[in-house]
Amino acid sequence: MTHSALSTDALRVIVTEIAEELAESDDRGRVASYIPQLACIDPQQFALSVVTPDGDVINAGDADTPFSIQSVSKVFTLAVALGQMGESLWSRVGREPSGDPFNSIVQLEHEQGIPRNPFINAGAIAVTDAVLSGYEPREAIGLIVEFIRYTAGDDTIMIDETVARSEEATGYRNTALANFMRDFGNLTCDPAMTLGVYYHQCAVAMTARQLALAGRFLAYDGCLAPGGSRVISGRMARQINALMLTCGHYDGSGEFAFRVGLPGKSGVGGAILAVAPGRASIGCWSPGLNAVGNSQLASRALEMLADRTGWSVFAPH
Ligand code: GLU
Repeated sequence: MTHSALSTDALRVIVTEIAEELAESDDRGRVASYIPQLACIDPQQFALSVVTPDGDVINAGDADTPFSIQSVSKVFTLAVALGQMGESLWSRVGREPSGDPFNSIVQLEHEQGIPRNPFINAGAIAVTDAVLSGYEPREAIGLIVEFIRYTAGDDTIMIDETVARSEEATGYRNTALANFMRDFGNLTCDPAMTLGVYYHQCAVAMTARQLALAGRFLAYDGCLAPGGSRVISGRMARQINALMLTCGHYDGSGEFAFRVGLPGKSGVGGAILAVAPGRASIGCWSPGLNAVGNSQLASRALEMLADRTGWSVFAPH
């Protein structure tokens, strides 16, 4: 099924129906509990927000409720790092799916401190370290938040300090990953400083609407709209989308590509940013996670959306 010219009204019907159908779900997965501040989020919440090339924003559910973007931030920090240093970033991080949990340390030892991809924790920490080089932590956090605000067109986006501190106090495994990479020479800054920046980027709070708006540059080949202001090169946007498709959902990346067929990045706060190139940027959120750490309802909602719109990147367009 392809809908080359799906009207905004038709899309609104699809989005509304998905939210209504999912509102009846009993099986919502389990909220992440390893970050204490996330353990107390109500799993009944759900939001779906879709931004079209014309700039229409179609919302369903709790689209204006902020959540912790967590690993979805890795997409934005990667864009900042690529903008700063271009291709040389790839000497520090690979571009292959890991097949291991997002916080695995085993692979890092086998591969001499070069993480498999920028979306597992080790890879994201290396990318954050690259952004931090030459800056104070506060400045690096500012660069990342400013980038997110610019792409979302929304200056009100903030960091939830309580979440950042909650993770900083308990992030023993990330500390291990960072120290390990420092020992291999793949971190250039003080690991504690790099982790401080990393926890703050993960603690950015956004709504589904803001997330969908912030993803536009990936949907429109590096621009905020078709023919609009350029954020990064088209080539970089395509590369980030390729990584989202292959590595964006932890150990469930193959399953997400199979079921949904869209580049996407999920986070343990229950958010997924997905991109239908040329057609839409999508923010989806529901806090309950499945066994591999992806939002149960957001994954399902995106599968339904891709089915009903024909937006899979594998469908003829
Ligand atoms: N801040 C989280 C961590 O480092 C991010 C995890 C995630 O969303 O995948 O564990």
